Amino acid sequence: MARRNKNLLRGRGVCFQDSTAPAKHAATTKRTHCNRRAFVRSGVGAAGLLILTPSLGVARSELPGLRGPAIGVPRGMRGKEGRVVWQHDPQAVKWTGSGYWWEDANTDQARVEQMLSLGLRNLTDAGTDTAAWNALFRHFNRGAAGYTPGESIAIKINLNNAHDPNDNQPDATQHLVLALLKSLILEAGIPGASLVVYDATYASINRGRIPDRIFNYCRAPGGQFLNVVWVDSYGGNGRTAKVLTGNVLTYAVSNSCGAQIPTVVKDAKYLINVPLLKGHATAGVTLCAKNHYGTINTGKDHTYIDPLNTSVGNLPRYNPLVDIMGSPEIGGKTLLYLMDGLYGAMSLDTTPVRWTSAPFGNHYTASLLLSLDPVAIDTVAYDLLVAAYNDPNQTGKATSVANRLPNADNYLHEAAQADNPPSGIVYSHGGTRFQSLGVHEHADFSAPTIGQRYQTISLRYNASPVNLRATSWTAYS
Ligand SMILES: [Zn+2]
Repeated sequence: MARRNKNLLRGRGVCFQDSTAPAKHAATTKRTHCNRRAFVRSGVGAAGLLILTPSLGVARSELPGLRGPAIGVPRGMRGKEGRVVWQHDPQAVKWTGSGYWWEDANTDQARVEQMLSLGLRNLTDAGTDTAAWNALFRHFNRGAAGYTPGESIAIKINLNNAHDPNDNQPDATQHLVLALLKSLILEAGIPGASLVVYDATYASINRGRIPDRIFNYCRAPGGQFLNVVWVDSYGGNGRTAKVLTGNVLTYAVSNSCGAQIPTVVKDAKYLINVPLLKGHATAGVTLCAKNHYGTINTGKDHTYIDPLNTSVGNLPRYNPLVDIMGSPEIGGKTLLYLMDGLYGAMSLDTTPVRWTSAPFGNHYTASLLLSLDPVAIDTVAYDLLVAAYNDPNQTGKATSVANRLPNADNYLHEAAQADNPPSGIVYSHGGTRFQSLGVHEHADFSAPTIGQRYQTISLRYNASPVNLRATSWTAYS
């Protein structure tokens, strides 16, 4: 065990090196960047992780390619590949802990709209929200066209805990859903009728039901907002019940994940993935990739995504999330990844808690993450969760999550190297093997200096640990 500890400590250092990015992505290639002090600090964090995981069966250090140089090929707009924008505004969330976190008055609508606006502009380097959307549509269409009237946009929100409208479990925040709809309708000029907000997860256990707190709130502006289509597994009261396609997804390894998706997703040209920032008792984390377990039909294999379940083989191994991330119907349609981290949670089915890890300062996470790289954005969120679980002062930690976190990024390693993954699995669609789905490189958010790509963040840490205004951090640049 002592040897394993030593390896783990070394592995969680903050030496950033990228020697794998091809020449065409030279803008993102970084030199080795090591900071001794940061290295020592990160070791303390890693030790904390070990304490939380005494029964861990597979040590992180046993897996190849889990740390060190960035792996994969960053995705995004030219010159901005791999960028993850992190908007943090502590004043956007105001819940005192009494009542429900999701009550309208507990989140500041105007500040959330400002966070989204800044995030869109920082992601695209555009001067206005309208220009930012136009840049995103043109990037998606390889420069050929912007949005064309008649095209549909599906918006996947996370309502996996919405079986009871009157509990404090984490689900999508209505303020962000409305901010997104306002931006799309008022700034991008998309007709309300071309927007579909959905979560098509399990009806059998009463999850994924669109609650009134979101539906009514987002229709309150009237006009075009009344034309937005809302799809869940139930229908009724203005919601539309999902209709499933035939089999459109394929998996490299047979598993119990569904191959069907809602027709509104099949018919959409674009998809906006709006996941939550949460730990997960089976997968370790549930972020952008796993949000689509609410897109596919029932099944949602949990054996392969559980890093502790060796009944399907040791790590590194196949992960169906990679097939979903690379599917032309899901990953291939994704216009934007927009993570709702306003009330980040330690696990699913648990009340959001205040985070003591930097930079949250014992406040709710009050964050949005935006990216065009599905691997990079989940990597940043994963690292934030690891930092929280490493913090001895953090409350609300779940043992099930802590036990899985060290290897919960297996799917990111597979996705980043989807053309030649550590598992040796051939991920493909229609006979064509996947290319890399994005870039993966760890940071230690507890360290005072956290690597060249994160310098902007570390400078902000030093300047103002808890900023009182919306702050933009470019996590990857
Ligand atoms: Zn990793």
